[in-house]
Amino acid sequence: MTITTARETPAHPAGNAESRLVGLRCRECGRRFPIEPVHVCDFCFGPLEVEYDYEVLRRTVTRESIARGPLSIWRYRDLLPVESLADTGWRVGYTPLQPAPNLGRALGLKDLWIKNDSVNPTFSFKDRVVAVASAKAREFGFDTFACASTGNLASAVAAAGVRVGLKTYVFLPWDTEPSKILNALVYGANVIAVKGTYDDVNRLCSEIADQCHWAFCNINVRPYYSEGSKTLAFETAEQLGWEAPDHVVVPIASGSLLTKIAKGFGELQQIGLIAEKPVRISGAQATGCGPVAEAFERGWDAIKPVQHPDTIAKSLAIGNPADGYYVLKLVRERGGAVRAATNDEIAQGMHLLAATEGVFAETAGGVTVAVLKKLVEEGIVRSDERVVAYITGNGLKTIDAVAPVLVPPPLVEPSLEAFEALLAGRAAEHRLEL
Ligand SMILES: *Cc1c(COP(=O)(O)O)cnc(C)c1O
Ligand SMILES: [Zn+2]
Repeated sequence: MTITTARETPAHPAGNAESRLVGLRCRECGRRFPIEPVHVCDFCFGPLEVEYDYEVLRRTVTRESIARGPLSIWRYRDLLPVESLADTGWRVGYTPLQPAPNLGRALGLKDLWIKNDSVNPTFSFKDRVVAVASAKAREFGFDTFACASTGNLASAVAAAGVRVGLKTYVFLPWDTEPSKILNALVYGANVIAVKGTYDDVNRLCSEIADQCHWAFCNINVRPYYSEGSKTLAFETAEQLGWEAPDHVVVPIASGSLLTKIAKGFGELQQIGLIAEKPVRISGAQATGCGPVAEAFERGWDAIKPVQHPDTIAKSLAIGNPADGYYVLKLVRERGGAVRAATNDEIAQGMHLLAATEGVFAETAGGVTVAVLKKLVEEGIVRSDERVVAYITGNGLKTIDAVAPVLVPPPLVEPSLEAFEALLAGRAAEHRLEL
């Protein structure tokens, strides 16, 4: 097996890598910083974001230049903050955007689509953000790649470390689903279970990042990491024939994904690849950890952190979401809403999606489907809108979560008579215990 690493491959032949990347810019005070592994503004502690020269991009990026690229997120590399050719030959992204007529009918929508990110290499959308972050970590010369994770980020980081040749450390809350812990261990990562919530893990990682010269996805390389989420918007527009949808529904953990999907559609408009259109954006959370939904519903501008998240949607269980404030602002501007789903609604959502469209999503997907249902019932998502629901993780990761809404199979003796009795409804009800 040959593994192509970021460092060994030549620079992009187009040669515009320098000029298209302007630097980092503070989202609060607008101060500019060079492209370095930093994530907060020295002056106001605001979050830093990658800034591009959209005039350069407008001149150099075309639908055709994108179409010539690989069938992965790297077809949009000019719109990502990497300078090396970071494609490791892994198919991250370019996942199916599938029409969902059956689910649409069940919910009362005429034009519903599912962006199925459950089929990425480690079975969640986190492979996108990690592909960009790991490439950037290599460019910066780090030898260790790390993260605080609610579950999915851990396996994405662990696997990417193998692909690009970085040591990995992943930190998880101790009550993470065992399947997700095993999903990180299998790649040989250093997995650390922390006695605390995700927010405790994140705080610990900030302290570790001050001590160790490591690239942390959620900390010093976060501005680059989060840019990877834009590719979900780029693909959606391209797969719809270079057109933005009317309304998107996005699950929220830290809120980064939702803000970056908005940024992605905005960038395509800014460089002239799609027509101007204010895409409506709604957000989905779980009731046991729905600080953004709560602030939205109560009309607050600030988020009140959830101290003790309690939901089966563990991948979304961030009590103090870093981008929550920006999500609130954005969703209000775009005429969407943020709502939360209960554990039962989440499991029902997982079942409904699988039973109507053949897509088995993890709990986060159940959250998205359940919230979409509410938004349709409330008239916030309209029946004639072209709607895209983002399905961000695979159901096999959280298989136990769906059990309560499924009926275990009947248990029969291995005989034709027994089966015929069952079909005729004459058999005593014996069911397999699951
Ligand atoms: C991390 C994650 C999200 C949301 O990520 P944020 O960018 O932190 O809001 C959504 N779905 C799944 C399955 C995830 O793992
Ligand atoms: Zn600032």
